[in-house]
Amino acid sequence: MINEKMKNYGNNRSVIRDLFEFGNTRRAEIGAENVFDFSLGNPNVAAPADVNKTITELIASKDDMWLHGYTSAQGDANCRKAIADDLNQRFGTAFSRDNLYITCGAAASLKIILTALYSEGDEVIVFTPYFPEYRVFVETTGAKLVECPSDPDTFQIDFEKLEPCISENTKAVIVNSPNNPSGVVYTERCIERLAALLSKKEEEYGHAIYLITDEPYRELVYDGIEVPFVTKYYKNTVVCYSYSKSLALPGERIGYVLVPDEIDDSKDIYAAVCGAGRALGYVCAPSLMQHVIEKCTGQSSDINEYREKRNLIYNALCAMGFKCVHPDGAFYLFMKSPIEDANAFSEKAKEFDLLLVPADSFGTPGFVRIAYCVSTDMIRRSLPAFEKLAAFYHKELGF
Ligand code: PLP
Repeated sequence: MINEKMKNYGNNRSVIRDLFEFGNTRRAEIGAENVFDFSLGNPNVAAPADVNKTITELIASKDDMWLHGYTSAQGDANCRKAIADDLNQRFGTAFSRDNLYITCGAAASLKIILTALYSEGDEVIVFTPYFPEYRVFVETTGAKLVECPSDPDTFQIDFEKLEPCISENTKAVIVNSPNNPSGVVYTERCIERLAALLSKKEEEYGHAIYLITDEPYRELVYDGIEVPFVTKYYKNTVVCYSYSKSLALPGERIGYVLVPDEIDDSKDIYAAVCGAGRALGYVCAPSLMQHVIEKCTGQSSDINEYREKRNLIYNALCAMGFKCVHPDGAFYLFMKSPIEDANAFSEKAKEFDLLLVPADSFGTPGFVRIAYCVSTDMIRRSLPAFEKLAAFYHKELGF
């Protein structure tokens, strides 16, 4: 006998992976330059120059034992201090290294905090559309995932929908802003209302409701939009962060969990985070990267390049008649399918070698996600294919 649940997770590949594999086949058949693959959130904009420079300097100047050896289970003390100092300087907070646990990226951060908080009967609320792995992370801890629809016009939180989702079993709410896949950034007003509602419910049920903020895109915002730093608005906030997107290092697997002193049972939760890291086999994140983060935390890839891509694709697709959510951050365009069935629309797009992810697995059918973290040249070259796709539906539906 083997673990059937795990077998199913292994066999049921995500639709994103399926599209990527389809892309590989087509690239071999017709040449990579003719396939317009918008499936993966793999940043195309380079890491800041300091990142590669720091790696080279570290390799040249430090001994291998230090550079590649184990660090403390919760992460190198200097790395954690550098992150705390950077956050304090940018957000006026007062964190110390003891609030931080270094992880292999946001996926590990989420899995660790969900495992640390879990007790039997727990429910965890997510807002649709949401990163599909949340379901895997939540359900494999034993908790129940509760989907709360976002406002269909703005993709901000719909508080009338949220209130009935909260029950005495609610242990945590996950927010992801800037959002994958909508590109929406929650406004300060939205965060304030969320904090007020959760505080009211904590009082009503007599226990903490933790707000888990999943923030891999925190620095990737456009047009001067500010991302509220949520620990300042709601006491029981835990932050999951990753350098995958901000420093364009997704393959290096580095991020953190931040457990502020102010949250209820802070010391116990930090201990449970260390315990979860241990139980999941996630102790001691990659050491070379920890040393790089010590020097480079707080930096980000060139946001102007992303803005250029965002403007190019958003303006072009809107001009063709497609309805898109205006992305204020991250590097995803959320586009309404001209037909109800976004899977069928994605299949049709494949005929033009356009790889667009149907958003059903994000909990919002009827949309596709376009990851525009690809070369600007590819976006330009893809536009005639989008034109043909639009022309097909103009003819078919008069849309
Ligand atoms: N959360 C969101 C919203 C994401 O988009 C991603 C990756 O795309 C992750 C978490 C996982 O990030 P990481 O690669 O750091 O594990």
